[in-house]
Amino acid sequence: MLFKRATATCISLRIPNQLCRIRYPKYSSPVVLKRSCSSHATTKTPPIPNADHRQLAVQQELFTTSIYSPGSPILLPNGARIFNRLVEFLRQQYTRYGFDEVITPTIYKKALWKKSGHLENYSDDMFTVTSTSPSRSDVSEGGEEDEYGLKPMNCPGHCLIFASQRHSYRDLPIRYADFSPLHRNEISGALSGLTRVRRFHQDDGHIFCRPSQIEEEIRKTLDFVRVVYSTFKLGPYRLTLSTRPQDHYIGTAAEWGTAEGALKRALDASGLDWTINEGDGAFYGPKIDIILRDSDGKEHQTATIQLDFQLPKRFELGYVAPAPEYEQRGETTTDPGALNETGLVTPVLIHRAVLGSVERLMALLIEHYNGKWPFWLNPKQVMIVTVNDSQPVLDHAKTVQDVLMGRQGSPEQPVSQATNFVVDIDDRQVPVGLKSHQAKAKGYSVILTAGPRQLSSGTITCDLSRLESDSESPKQERADMLPSELLEILKAKANAYL
Ligand SMILES: [Zn+2]
Repeated sequence: MLFKRATATCISLRIPNQLCRIRYPKYSSPVVLKRSCSSHATTKTPPIPNADHRQLAVQQELFTTSIYSPGSPILLPNGARIFNRLVEFLRQQYTRYGFDEVITPTIYKKALWKKSGHLENYSDDMFTVTSTSPSRSDVSEGGEEDEYGLKPMNCPGHCLIFASQRHSYRDLPIRYADFSPLHRNEISGALSGLTRVRRFHQDDGHIFCRPSQIEEEIRKTLDFVRVVYSTFKLGPYRLTLSTRPQDHYIGTAAEWGTAEGALKRALDASGLDWTINEGDGAFYGPKIDIILRDSDGKEHQTATIQLDFQLPKRFELGYVAPAPEYEQRGETTTDPGALNETGLVTPVLIHRAVLGSVERLMALLIEHYNGKWPFWLNPKQVMIVTVNDSQPVLDHAKTVQDVLMGRQGSPEQPVSQATNFVVDIDDRQVPVGLKSHQAKAKGYSVILTAGPRQLSSGTITCDLSRLESDSESPKQERADMLPSELLEILKAKANAYL
């Protein structure tokens, strides 16, 4: 539920100034420090900070903004490619970690937000949606039912899904994932780039589990975090555990003690450094924050894991289990009398986001990679440069492009083998060396040269030197190969992160 500002930063993205960098002239003049002996002058160049993601986004044509929708980034084709690949990467992980993706509404009636507590605690940050056409209003007593709120979080919707079916203890844990767009009414003066926005997407997930499953679910989530951040080579990161507030909290101290004990054991098992923020948990449950340190030493809170005892109660969620009193405490029993009894038990809800906001993680990655995207994320993957503009050479370049994009066969046939690679052709009448140089400057990972020499063999000259190398496959410079051979190399490289 995630709306208590001071403490509940989970999946709430109020992180002032984290990505707002101090602006320096991009190319500072070297500072010459003279020693006492003038013949030993040394030149010391101050470190040049990485460019701001907003600057880089303009250079790389990733996103734009409009006065007609402040705070809602408009992703251009290059930005949409990165966004979609991040989402696809997460989907692959969901197969491994047992999440089921759901698709949920963008607007809900205010009655839902009242039930979830958002209306009471979060209404300043929410947009209201009303119909301007009374004839299209829903039939209801009074007009209040016709007011909707634009969703700032997915949790209430996921509680509705859980409540829509009857559950046994054997069904749990149930893990829902959701990439829905979310809207929060941030102050207009604070809006900036991909980091201070009104519309964004989370790799949002909610786990409904038995109290006895908390530790295992946290352990898996921490492993998920490790896999994702090592894939991006982001880090190092540290973990903090925020525990029960001194006064204002719900549930019993014993429930908190059990939950915090499970979180501590999961953190210990992760082998990572972690610290305690005593009393800094949200009133509805303890949480773990993942704090990432970037190459400039700045810290960013990205992933978050929060336990929630409250929302399942507000939505009267339950599952059927034997020995319900033991079950609720996360304990087991062999007492036949207790086991003969079955009853409803309230599940524990774990809110978790690994990337956090997809847009904010994109901002981090834009700065982290600084134009040198790994092949699988690169919105500019392959450039084919032509040696001349004769028709056979142009046709050859087009054929290579078709093979690499999976666009083979006649136009009437469906594109069933689409590779989703981005393959461009530069057939301008300028020297091939210049075209190749410009393609590298634009950040293409692979440069192919199509000329008359390869026409008879059907091959293409490949410069793979900019494909990131790993320990098993040494960097390959230039080689002639068939487009189908190259396609296999690129597929392997694109899937290497899995
Ligand atoms: Zn949530």
